[in-house]
Amino acid sequence: MLKLLKVNLFFWRTILCLGGFVFFPGLESFSQDTNAISDSLTWPDPHWIDPDTFRGPGFYFSIFKILACLILFLLWVRSADWINQDLLFHRLKRNTWNPIVVGCFSFALLMMWVIPYFWPAFLLLLIAYSGPALTYIFYYRNPLVEDHLRVLTPEHIRFLVAKNLRYVGVHISDDASLLSEDDLGPEVDLSADLDSARPTKQARTILARQVEGYAATTDLFGDALDRRATQLLLSFGEQMGIRYLIDGVWHNLPPQSIETGRQITEVLSTLATDPEDEAKHSFAQGNEAHFSARFRKMIDSETDAVKLNHMQAQRNQFHGKWEENVICKLTLAKGENLERWLITFHRSADHLHSLIDLGMRTKTAEEVAATLQKTSGMILFSALPSGGLTTLINIGLESVDRYMRDFVSVEDSDSPEPEIANVDPKYYDSTAGERPVDCLPAVSRAQPDVIVCRNLVDPQSAQMLCDLAMKEFLVIGSIGARDSLEALLRVLVMKVPPELVAGSITTVVHGRLIRKLCTECKTAYQPSSELLKKLGIPPERAEKLYRAAQPESEKICDVCEGIGYHGVTGIYEVLQMDQDIQKILVSGKPNIDDLKRVARKAGMRTELDHGKLLVARGITSVEELQRVLKK
Ligand SMILES: [Zn+2]
Repeated sequence: MLKLLKVNLFFWRTILCLGGFVFFPGLESFSQDTNAISDSLTWPDPHWIDPDTFRGPGFYFSIFKILACLILFLLWVRSADWINQDLLFHRLKRNTWNPIVVGCFSFALLMMWVIPYFWPAFLLLLIAYSGPALTYIFYYRNPLVEDHLRVLTPEHIRFLVAKNLRYVGVHISDDASLLSEDDLGPEVDLSADLDSARPTKQARTILARQVEGYAATTDLFGDALDRRATQLLLSFGEQMGIRYLIDGVWHNLPPQSIETGRQITEVLSTLATDPEDEAKHSFAQGNEAHFSARFRKMIDSETDAVKLNHMQAQRNQFHGKWEENVICKLTLAKGENLERWLITFHRSADHLHSLIDLGMRTKTAEEVAATLQKTSGMILFSALPSGGLTTLINIGLESVDRYMRDFVSVEDSDSPEPEIANVDPKYYDSTAGERPVDCLPAVSRAQPDVIVCRNLVDPQSAQMLCDLAMKEFLVIGSIGARDSLEALLRVLVMKVPPELVAGSITTVVHGRLIRKLCTECKTAYQPSSELLKKLGIPPERAEKLYRAAQPESEKICDVCEGIGYHGVTGIYEVLQMDQDIQKILVSGKPNIDDLKRVARKAGMRTELDHGKLLVARGITSVEELQRVLKK
């Protein structure tokens, strides 16, 4: 029950709201008789009205009073929503504060109906609104968060006033004094670990900050994070080459000198090396190390809000400052003439909640949701390596109801995925030579409804999962492949009996990431009729298409920094198993062309179809679609 209440908080608020206002016509306190209190100090008699004989002049309600309550109510909805988001963001006690905020106000709304005097009832409503909200901010929240994240402090109010006056063209003269010097550019602190409570890690952090190249390192990280890079690659030759992976595409940056490069790697290896480990004095090849980067940036323009993810920007923005904790994974590859330091940034994706957020069409998302409701069979999620498979399967799981059914996931304890609420993880240890098949019998004995096993890595595990899917389990698996049909063939290649594959797998969902054109600088052009014909777009549906701005144009776009693309979405295809496909799979020599033909005939819409739709809508370009499908 509590879970339901939590999930549907917004829903309950709306119900309360409607309920409150439906009752209003019955409110004695809303009558226009403002002398009610002075006339009699006793509780007034209810005016029972005989509907057959009574006819009055009408209009008994004060618009002013109703409006006052409505404004207060809307303010409360806004504040309650902010408090809920804030609790989530700072991981504070949601189960305590949300009920307090909702409960107090609901009670006062009810009292509004019971108390026959408007002003005392309104005062109660005002207290029920401001009391919990202010208590939350001043006695609970502000003392727990860092200085610059506190709200309703004199500095914060000054900032808000200055910011809002700027919109109407008034610039407060001491505006600039609101920002200290180091607030102006992106700012990065590197720490040996997110959990800095451990003394050895603190020592490493302090050591790293004393290395001469620390400033160069934080500048580099700040630039990479500001451009939304997800990976940073440093390669050593005559100079230090620098590359950023942005939206799945590598971009070269101007190289830096070897001296700077060496200073930077010294900082990185100090962060990564355990000082207690005498044998290793620096970060060595084959190791993997994690450290954290706290990225802060002043946001003062619309461009920045667009550049960073808009939802995240709003949520992380206090005092106009963006702040994000980024977990960095460091790996080193060293050969004879080659040395590469790769840093992978794990950036939060908390703006993605549904398959539609990932770019899936509503109809496709509904189809996937329906298959996830089944009670048996196997659903395979598939994508290219580093093509967003983890996100696809996680969001797929997030979008199904996990409260009414038992979900268990089989995870590698060596590389665990972040836990998903209400999915119970069971671990196997790949470093000890274990595979999913080693813990599947125990998992199935517990009789869950759904078994999630991310990677069909070995034949035995794949076969056992297919077996379980034929019984009363819904199995959700994933496999790397170029398209949905190849995913099926890849399971066959693992020597799982074809009858088992054909009988157990019910659906394959395949996705590819595709970059979106930058909405600030994309340029329209008139497509030739041949191109439209090739794309299968009727000429009346696309009078113009869009392509990325030419990089040589004189002004570099603020949003995409001249790349022409900004952000990614996905193109998807869903393959439903049918008798024709089953026949080909068990025929002994299945090939992809036969499968394609049959799937087409059954009406499957491919990723190419979805991609063409995005081109016609101007979301992406023909060039990008070609690049993505060539992989
Ligand atoms: Zn742009």
